[in-house]
Amino acid sequence: MEVCKGSECLKVELIAYSLPREGDVDKLVAESGAISHAPHFKELNEERVKNLIELLKKLGHESVFEHACFTFRVEGISRICTHQLVRHRLASYTQQSQRYVKLKNPKFIVPNEIMESEFSEEYLELLERASELYRKMVEGGIRKEDARFVLPQGVETKIVITMNARELRHFITLRCDKSAQWEIREMAKEMLRLAHDVAPILFDDLYKKYIDNSEE
Ligand SMILES: Cc1cc2nc3c(=O)[nH]c(=O)nc-3n(C[C@H](O)[C@H](O)[C@H](O)COP(=O)(O)OP(=O)(O)OC[C@H]3O[C@@H](n4cnc5c(N)ncnc54)[C@H](O)[C@@H]3O)c2cc1C
Repeated sequence: MEVCKGSECLKVELIAYSLPREGDVDKLVAESGAISHAPHFKELNEERVKNLIELLKKLGHESVFEHACFTFRVEGISRICTHQLVRHRLASYTQQSQRYVKLKNPKFIVPNEIMESEFSEEYLELLERASELYRKMVEGGIRKEDARFVLPQGVETKIVITMNARELRHFITLRCDKSAQWEIREMAKEMLRLAHDVAPILFDDLYKKYIDNSEE
């Protein structure tokens, strides 16, 4: 059994995003949006790109943001976190299956609050016992899909997520908020950092609100 304290095992990678023939993600979005008020498709300079994206955000014309897509690979998160994640319906997901993959050495995400409490020892013993029984049952012929019922929800999982920029902005707004749980919040912040690296104008407002602002 392996234990990850808090988000120490969290790994988020941006493995793909819309790469236009020319320019970058911000330009792709702005130039797509520009056709609604122009007789022809046209190229926009950096300043027009920035102004147009800001105007679209202000007016709430966010369907234009759907032209850009982002794919993330995430590991080191619990099934609790992915259960919250997949409630976001306008996205595509592929998750490691507990029916097909035998968890040889189950890894668990354990909240810092538990690790630092007087319950930590008892909790870790319970995880050890659950892992041991899982192993014994699989070796004894119980199907993985049934043996997994003994594993606590904190068990680690891996998932690939694809969202368009509109949905990603919505997801970040809900899940970077203080009201969201720490684990999905950490993951959403990583996704925001990575998306902001490749589309700084599109994610500028959210980056300033949730990452640059130390109060958040
Ligand atoms: C802090 C927090 C606490 C939560 N607590 C709970 C809880 O206790 N119990 C619980 O069950 N859930 C809970 N949730 C989950 C929440 O109710 C939503 O299911 C989740 O956040 C996905 O949000 P969404 O529906 O806006 O997003 P998405 O599914 O990503 O959809 C994006 C947007 O598309 C539109 N949309 C999508 N599908 C439809 C549709 N079928 N009809 C109309 N419009 C649609 C909506 O405008 C929606 O906002 C919680 C979420 C947060 C952030």
